[in-house]
Amino acid sequence: MAFVNENFLKLPGNYLFAEIATRVAAYKTNHPSASVISLGIGDVTRPLAPAVIAAMQKATAEMASEGTMRGYSPDRGYPFLLDAIVKNDFAAHGIDVTQDEIFVSDGAKSDTGNFGDILSADNLVAVTDPVYPVYVDTNVMGGRAGELKNSAWSCIQYLPCTAQNSFTPALPTKRVDVIYLCYPNNPTGTTLSRAELKKWVDYALQNETLILFDAAYEAFIRESDVPRSIYEIAGAKQVAVEFRSFSKTAGFTGVRCGYNVVPKELLVKTASGDKVALNSIWKRRQATKFNGAAYVVQRAAEAVYSPEGKQQVQETIDYYLQNAGVIKTGLESIGMKTYGGVNAPYIWVQTPNSYSSWEFFDRMLNELQIVTTPGAGFGASGEGFVRLTAFGKKAATVEAVERIKNWKL
Ligand code: PLP
Repeated sequence: MAFVNENFLKLPGNYLFAEIATRVAAYKTNHPSASVISLGIGDVTRPLAPAVIAAMQKATAEMASEGTMRGYSPDRGYPFLLDAIVKNDFAAHGIDVTQDEIFVSDGAKSDTGNFGDILSADNLVAVTDPVYPVYVDTNVMGGRAGELKNSAWSCIQYLPCTAQNSFTPALPTKRVDVIYLCYPNNPTGTTLSRAELKKWVDYALQNETLILFDAAYEAFIRESDVPRSIYEIAGAKQVAVEFRSFSKTAGFTGVRCGYNVVPKELLVKTASGDKVALNSIWKRRQATKFNGAAYVVQRAAEAVYSPEGKQQVQETIDYYLQNAGVIKTGLESIGMKTYGGVNAPYIWVQTPNSYSSWEFFDRMLNELQIVTTPGAGFGASGEGFVRLTAFGKKAATVEAVERIKNWKL
């Protein structure tokens, strides 16, 4: 009998979303005619942009004929997409990223999760708290997390993000090798200013720390002081990998495409102190374990950067951000404290009357028929908050906010 990787056995069940689904299902069984609105959903609801659909249809037709069909994609992605990414996401913002620093993939979950493959189990890892659970769970799988004690992993350094520090994590008190940063943030919807992100890049330069920067929600940034890429900060190419996704940018959650940037000057070291380029190791890993995103999908992603594509995608993001505004202003009009929702599709709501996340979740479900996501599910510092999302339909979002405004809490 083969031996199992016991790190996987350390993982607790996916308690958060399973528990939400159980409670919502029970409520619906007991109240079959209730109109339940989900503000907990982390998935898009708007259709893909017409320019994207047209590109997919054209590419599909190419696959139907002998002269134009395509087989395996080049390892890092097709040059047409790499070129569009370089020009639009980086050069247009004065950032120097070259095609051979980009790796097209099937999304940021795979990339942020898989990246641990090329990092030693000995690295000390820090995450912000609350946190997108994939960073923590994949470090558990990679043997870097230690043991779970009182809902925290013994070898992971948690950096609390609270209302007291305006959701800006303090630098680690104990030196770390790897830090995950996600901005705009899931779940809090908050951002870092350029000056705040610079502190992290400077820390990483001084401490030889690797920053894994998840910019999956970059397209939602509206304020000019919020960096769209970590490479806007001087020196970041020496210390940071950036992850991007077309999922929330262009509604690709079901299409699957993303990319990451691994700068050529970014070095890591061996146990004996030799320096090696992360780019070539990641290239080797991807070439061995991944056969590229589909041609049709890469053409679809390219269309996101066409003039029509850009405009259509923008309209959809505006739609979600309007929902975010409706939620935020509605809740604040009745004195509730909210964070995020300006440069992100998430609104982080402080529970009133010191309700716990789950107590407030239950009250909103039972009294208003609204589904939220309890903040405690994202980490200890998420206790006392719920996450609302702007990804719903406009009418349902407005209706949900009206219910909350008329609530006698
Ligand atoms: N990163 C963050 C912070 C996310 O919230 C999500 C999805 O919710 C992802 C990555 C996953 O993105 P993708 O659909 O590209 O895998």
